[in-house]
Amino acid sequence: MKTTSEFIAVFDAQGIEYRTETDGSLITDCPPCGIENKGTGKAKIFPDGGFTCQRFAGTGAAEHRQEMLSAWNLESAVKPSSFMSETILDGQVTFEIERGERGKQRVTARNCKSVLHVDVFNLSDSSARVKFIKNLNLPEPDALTTSRTLIDLADRFYRVNEAALDDDEDQEPALTTFAVLKDGRIIEETTNGFACYDPVSESTTIEKSVTDEDGTAYKPLINGGRADKIGLFLASGVEEYFAEEQLDADILKFIEKYVDISEQNRAISSKYIRMTYRIDSLNEVPYLHATGNSGNGKSRFTQTIGLLCYRPMFTIDATAVFAPYLHHQLEQTG
Ligand SMILES: [Zn+2]
Repeated sequence: MKTTSEFIAVFDAQGIEYRTETDGSLITDCPPCGIENKGTGKAKIFPDGGFTCQRFAGTGAAEHRQEMLSAWNLESAVKPSSFMSETILDGQVTFEIERGERGKQRVTARNCKSVLHVDVFNLSDSSARVKFIKNLNLPEPDALTTSRTLIDLADRFYRVNEAALDDDEDQEPALTTFAVLKDGRIIEETTNGFACYDPVSESTTIEKSVTDEDGTAYKPLINGGRADKIGLFLASGVEEYFAEEQLDADILKFIEKYVDISEQNRAISSKYIRMTYRIDSLNEVPYLHATGNSGNGKSRFTQTIGLLCYRPMFTIDATAVFAPYLHHQLEQTG
């Protein structure tokens, strides 16, 4: 049961006209009666929140009341609903819509006995809707009814969830260089934004910001590719390396090009570089340290190897201007 004040809040927000009676009840136009061109229908909302259409009584009154609620968007306004259902074809098929991952919707079609089909897709995508309906194997006229129902549900769903989605945007984004999202995606800051790996499609995209399924927004810790100003060198992107042998060969080639060290040191360094990318799963790590007299190429070595390591930091380049970033950086990456 809704309270009268909930009705008033919803009516005010939607610009719906109503009249307050001396006994505290509200009178307004009944929306489904208006749609059916039986405009004389007046809805009465009692002080205890119960409501009725003064024209409509008897068979179908419960459905009529449900229509009133959904026309007023009342369920959504009181509690943003992530679940909606609609039964069509004389009770043969029921659709259920829930909020799915990444702005998609989970749509379930069931008859009284079993689930006919379930899929997660964007309801506003017409080809995805057609595909879903095809899977139900309904005769032509029923498929048409189904299609209309899905469009209607999509419309209702978006209207109801709009408020909730707007709220998400108001949240302060979390600044980070790396995160594992609740929906399974993994984000890693690069100089161009986040490299975002999606385990479902097994693909990586570059995103300026990312929003998790629970609405948490993430933005790169250091914006505008300024990371190198504090001595933090981020990857510029993500590329497929195809085979580990190829990756090893590419690393060795890079080292050979920029620093003159023995073959053995090259081999050790290349393995060290790859180890740094597994650093989160290791408890202790060895530290690659160059020794020797000054001028023998220690810093050249450190820079060359360091640039290939996972998220290297060259403190030598840190400037006072970016000290706050450095502080953040230390907090975030440990
Ligand atoms: Zn009515």
